[in-house]
Amino acid sequence: MISIRCPHCHIGLKIDESKIPANIQVFNCPKCKQPIQVSYVLKNRVADDSETVILSFSDDKNAKIGKIHVLPNDLTPEQTIQLLEGVNIIGRKSPIQKTATSIETMDKLMSRTHIGIEVRKNTEKGDFIYYLYDNKSTNRTLYNNKYIEPGEVITLKNNDEIQIGQTRLIFEE
Ligand SMILES: [Zn+2]
Repeated sequence: MISIRCPHCHIGLKIDESKIPANIQVFNCPKCKQPIQVSYVLKNRVADDSETVILSFSDDKNAKIGKIHVLPNDLTPEQTIQLLEGVNIIGRKSPIQKTATSIETMDKLMSRTHIGIEVRKNTEKGDFIYYLYDNKSTNRTLYNNKYIEPGEVITLKNNDEIQIGQTRLIFEE
C-alpha cells in the first residue's frame, strides 16, 4: 500500500500499487474527483495517516474494455465496435441476424462471422487481455499485414491492425 495526499483536496489516500491498471496514467480522486497522475502517486508517498480513503481499482471505471475502430472506405462507413467481456464474433452484418459486433458494409469479401476476439479479465492487473483468431473465414484474416494461420491465437496490443476482406480494423485498448 502507498499512502499519499490528494494534490487537490489533500485527503489521505491509500493505494494498492499492485492494483493500478497498467494502461492508465491518470485516475480521479474518490473525494474531489480531480485527476491524479499515477507518477505523482509513486513520487509523493507520505507516512501512513489515520484519515485515509482506500482506493480500489478492481471495479473502477478506468478499467474499460477495448474497441474496434472500423476504418471507412468505399464499401464501409466509419464505425466503432465496443468489445464485451467473453467471445466477440465480428463480421459483415446480416439483414436477418444483427449482432452488436456486426459491421455495416458492402464488403462481400468479409464473412458474417469472420473473426473472434475473446476478452478476458486480467485479474492481476484489473485490465483485460484480448485474444484474436480467424473464425474459419472464407478469405482469411490479416493481422498487421500477415495472415493468421488456422488455429493461431494472437494477443492484441493497442493500435494493432486487422484486415478482414477489404476492410481495415484498428484495435484500441
Ligand atoms: Zn482529492
